[in-house]
Amino acid sequence: MHVDYAVVTLKLADTFAISRWQYEERHNLMVRIHHEGVTGYGEAAPNRRYGESLQSAMEALPILVEALGDDPRLFFHRIETMQHCLAGQGAAKAALDMALFDWLGKYLGQPLYRYFGFDAGLVPATSFTLGIAEPAKMIEKAQKGREFPFLKLKLGGGPHDRDMVSALRSVTQQPLIVDVNEGWTDLKHALNEIYWLADQGVILIEQPMPAAAYEDLCRLKPRSPLPLFADESLTAPGDIVRLSSAFHGVNVKLMKVGGILEAKRTLELARLLEMQTMLGCMIESGLGIAAAANLAPMVDWVDLDGNILLSEDPCDALSLANSQIQLSERAGLGVSLKPAIHDQLEWQSLKAKQVVT
Ligand SMILES: [Mg+2]
Repeated sequence: MHVDYAVVTLKLADTFAISRWQYEERHNLMVRIHHEGVTGYGEAAPNRRYGESLQSAMEALPILVEALGDDPRLFFHRIETMQHCLAGQGAAKAALDMALFDWLGKYLGQPLYRYFGFDAGLVPATSFTLGIAEPAKMIEKAQKGREFPFLKLKLGGGPHDRDMVSALRSVTQQPLIVDVNEGWTDLKHALNEIYWLADQGVILIEQPMPAAAYEDLCRLKPRSPLPLFADESLTAPGDIVRLSSAFHGVNVKLMKVGGILEAKRTLELARLLEMQTMLGCMIESGLGIAAAANLAPMVDWVDLDGNILLSEDPCDALSLANSQIQLSERAGLGVSLKPAIHDQLEWQSLKAKQVVT
């Protein structure tokens, strides 16, 4: 098994702002696994919130590849070994897990969702995300999301949150998901805002308070008129049991939990605990989005719009019909890098790099 990787630059169509930070472009990693004439692809979107950087992901790759061993057909055992060989670095782990499942699907000649037994017709419609913006800009952004059944609005916990909601409500009555990204730090304030938002047609709230405020979140859950979903609070499948006391649902991202296998386990555990389920994403190309979309038939909510927010997706487009991601008949994850972009990337061999260092 041979593995190599390249850095890819993703430019956003608009500046993207959340409660913590904002950016115009992202640098993700693409990885390739070659074995027996078949090549599988994966993507890492390292995130500072989880102690990751492009550099830390690149440094983790050789260690993770070593743990994966030489036979991708043994993925069940190998991915478990990889997950435990070092702490954190969910994005780098996710890239290798995705590449392995893309390889497996191509090796078996089947799309991944079919291997899992999922009905492609059951993918819920995706939401369209609006980053934090001035009210006038928010109205402009909302135009791009007109065709989606609901919008996801980022709030910052600052003094302009209600202005952003009111601006949106002046142009659309689409149901809203509100993602606070840990922005509210006071329990009473959080509860006041949630009651106000419930009156504005908001249907659920994501991560209202910091992950560290677990006790407050447990107090908030029984008082909240809207379902509360964990995002930053959830970084590993094992978190679910504890989180069921503080949240009604979970937003699972491949980049947080370390890939498709761990995401599937997390979602299964959440379903067993009768929690609602959502699949989310970071700013990712269509490759990372397709990897998550292969699990989408098992969830209640889909927030997989990371590639729609880009000025250009380096992968051939995942098609949307009525805001529903159309799972491909192609083997593996179902998408590939555009040939011109694939050939421009500077692929670096991991094995060769290991010898040099
Ligand atoms: Mg979120």
